[in-house]
Amino acid sequence: MKIVDAKVVVTSPGRNFVTLKLTTDEGLTGLGDATLNGRELSVVSYLQDHVAPLLIGLDPHRVEDTWQSLYRGAYWRRGPVTMAAIAAVDTALWDIKAKAAGLPLYQLLGGASRDRVATYGHASGRDIPELLDSVRARLAAGYPAIRIQSGIPGLKAVYGVTSTRDDGSSVLHQQARPLVEDWDTDAYLRHTPTVFEAVRAEFGPELPLLHDAHHRLTPIQAARLGKDLEPYRPFWLEDCTPAENQEALRLVRQGTSVPLAIGEVFNTVYDYQTLISEQLIDYVRSAVTHFGGVTPLRKLFDFAAQYQIKSAIHGPEDISPVGMAAAVHLDLAVHNFGIQEYSGHTPLTEQVFRHAYTFTDGHLHPGEAPGIGVDLDEDLAAAHPYKAAYLPVNRLQDGTVHDW
Ligand SMILES: [Mg+2]
Repeated sequence: MKIVDAKVVVTSPGRNFVTLKLTTDEGLTGLGDATLNGRELSVVSYLQDHVAPLLIGLDPHRVEDTWQSLYRGAYWRRGPVTMAAIAAVDTALWDIKAKAAGLPLYQLLGGASRDRVATYGHASGRDIPELLDSVRARLAAGYPAIRIQSGIPGLKAVYGVTSTRDDGSSVLHQQARPLVEDWDTDAYLRHTPTVFEAVRAEFGPELPLLHDAHHRLTPIQAARLGKDLEPYRPFWLEDCTPAENQEALRLVRQGTSVPLAIGEVFNTVYDYQTLISEQLIDYVRSAVTHFGGVTPLRKLFDFAAQYQIKSAIHGPEDISPVGMAAAVHLDLAVHNFGIQEYSGHTPLTEQVFRHAYTFTDGHLHPGEAPGIGVDLDEDLAAAHPYKAAYLPVNRLQDGTVHDW
């Protein structure tokens, strides 16, 4: 079998998605998600101009060899653009291999290790009463665990508290210029324990509650927050410090026993070496889409398993249904699965990407369709072309740029 076509499809059914479609001489096709939120067209160029010509004529069964040749052969290693492009190729090759075998991908990864995949959903509010309503809505939708984010008194626009359109798409991610959010770390550190106190008082001690600090704290600030949240038993504190400095987590770990999750912006296992080998974290958060595909993410999970660290794949709306499908196959197969973030997609997105995975009672299952189980409607995709979009930026009260 040989690859005869490599096509990149860009579509915006509510937000931008980039998809690689590989076609073989036997008529089998494979899909891979290459969406890099806010920098989408850079990956389109990487794939179209530099990778697609290398794929024509290759045997699609050679997944590992193709991954290694794209990673090592470029000379310029790592980085989000490179790794999103390689991820799309890797996922599309696994899709073809599983279709050729007539099996859903999870069977090629060792088969199911569980019956279904537990998820967490996002609840948010501009104030605590609005957040409590949002938690109620997520519970009604069946989510077994919930991430809580709240507005902060005195701040106008805060991460995780977004305006949402009627179709479910986020206003934040479709700005022609970056939206400017504002930030005050002291106000955040004072307010967040009161948010947890209110949610626990309303919903009791058993509901798993997660919280995302979104890379904004110093190690000592993160340790302080962790200590203050300990009485409320969070499921985890996510991305408490900026991702670049792995050693920072040593200081956080010394100060709090709150479980720590990190890694949604990581590209390779090298971003995790200290974190995993020193057991500084409890969950690895990388997505198939941004970590180079199914092949390296499986290896990461196996590395993490040696240290009792669990998987928790990144799953916001900008992971397309193609990337989400690949994630759910991995979730079902790996032994050290922890939890899957799941936000769902707009109804129009679900028409562009018809998928076999299902979401029932807060749990996902990849389905039994051969491959990853996603079909791309290229005509509908073409009817919703790319729109320029940026993620927000974040500024302190005096105008200084801060981590978003
Ligand atoms: Mg996050």
